[in-house]
Amino acid sequence: MEFETIIGLEVHAQLLTRSKMFCGCSADYVGAEPNTHVCPVCLGLPGALPVINRQAVRYTIMTGLALNCQIPAYSKFDRKNYMYPDLMKGYQISQYDLPLCVNGYLEYEHDGVRKRVGIRRVHLEEDTAKLVHANDGGVGYSLVDVNRAGVPLIEIVTEPDLRSPEEARAFLMALRQVLRYLGVSTANMEEGAFRCDANISQRTRDGSIIGPKVEIKNMNSFRSVERALAYEVERQRAALQRGEQLIQETRGWLEDQGMTVSQRTKEYAEDYRYFPEPDLPPLFLTEAEVAEIRAAMPELPLARWERFQAEYGLSPQESALLTEEREVADFFEACLQGDRQRAKAVANWITGPLFALMRERGLSLSGLGIRPEQLRQLVTLVENGTINALTAKDVLEAVCATGKDPETIVAEQGLAQVSDVAQLRAVVQSVLEQNPKAVADYRRGKSAALGFLLGQVMKALGGRANPAVARELLEEALQAPVD
Ligand code: ADP
Ligand code: ZN
Ligand code: MG
Repeated sequence: MEFETIIGLEVHAQLLTRSKMFCGCSADYVGAEPNTHVCPVCLGLPGALPVINRQAVRYTIMTGLALNCQIPAYSKFDRKNYMYPDLMKGYQISQYDLPLCVNGYLEYEHDGVRKRVGIRRVHLEEDTAKLVHANDGGVGYSLVDVNRAGVPLIEIVTEPDLRSPEEARAFLMALRQVLRYLGVSTANMEEGAFRCDANISQRTRDGSIIGPKVEIKNMNSFRSVERALAYEVERQRAALQRGEQLIQETRGWLEDQGMTVSQRTKEYAEDYRYFPEPDLPPLFLTEAEVAEIRAAMPELPLARWERFQAEYGLSPQESALLTEEREVADFFEACLQGDRQRAKAVANWITGPLFALMRERGLSLSGLGIRPEQLRQLVTLVENGTINALTAKDVLEAVCATGKDPETIVAEQGLAQVSDVAQLRAVVQSVLEQNPKAVADYRRGKSAALGFLLGQVMKALGGRANPAVARELLEEALQAPVD
């Protein structure tokens, strides 16, 4: 039997607003003392009234526009009723039948292939409190931290367009990249600002078997999403092949055991007794308001990736490296200041030495502390022959360490490269005298000895020799007749 995998995702992302969704409490609660970012509204005290956060609505619409959604002129909030200790009011304010954004798609490039995944809807809701489970001498109990309750959350629901665990992972990474470009969310999965529930089912290509959809929860990294889905593909296929009846259910991913386990049978919309939120007015959006939000949007990753290739002649891979993060892409263009001739050199410096430093120190680009003008200056110093590439790497580190400009560092430390023929010739002469064996080797046809001798010239000048001139003078001297 030839099975096909069907996957659709439901992604929650916390919005980067200053205050919570329906009250004035700070939404920046990470690391705060439990229950310090709370008020009657987010504690769910009777009689407290919510007020809609305008920026959260703007961010949701911005996300919808980036995902090519339609923005209906009319939208509203609804109550989703259920009982759980992390839900302060006994209901969550969410959106049911009239979400802010509908019918879109995300287009992205993966492994050289253009993909398009349908987006069913993007809606706005509030986050729940956080339960902390503890155990005291065999007695289990749970603590409630309400800081997270009421933080604005968007839910992005895809069409079932994904066909493998690997594709699901690539989609999530592309989606995260878009949210980060927009600046609407940190979209950090490990911190819980970006969470994914995955729906997965199997069917045979001839349509003789159509398995039920299973929802998987509790994955907190891209890797676990892919692993959990891969596990589920195998589990479902094996069961269907044995002729077993699978049920539509929710399963939890157990990271340590590398398996999913049944949590509960599927709940349906009816279970939630949705009804319009009576404490909030509906939202009427004019075309002008949506147009204004659209105008404020940055260039998106796919467009920028394409433009970097067209405008700067970069390869798809180079362009992908530079546009992976908006901060890096902005830095690259700030270095160029419109000077396309420099694109290749600047790109090489960023994806080479700069990325290496970032990896080595576990820092972001801004964390390195180098400014675009400084990298531009460094590239200029190499291009006009003031310093060689070897010295430039040291200068780069010094810029990051001290914040001083490359020109200042070169002047202060006397790092300018030595291109003066007379000075270099003198050094070459003394190197040849001190290394008779290498000279003899070279003359016997061991051309590798030239590299060694060049290294000695470099060493004598603290790495500052102009390598091209030094090599030329060395060859010249070695070819001279032996006296
Ligand atoms: P429900 O009524 O269970 O909420 P929806 O139709 O709203 O189901 O879809 C919820 C999620 O499940 C969406 O992300 C959708 O893409 C995905 N989905 C729908 N049908 C399937 C399927 N046959 N296999 C896998 N995922 C599916
Ligand atoms: Zn509050
Ligand atoms: Mg649903």
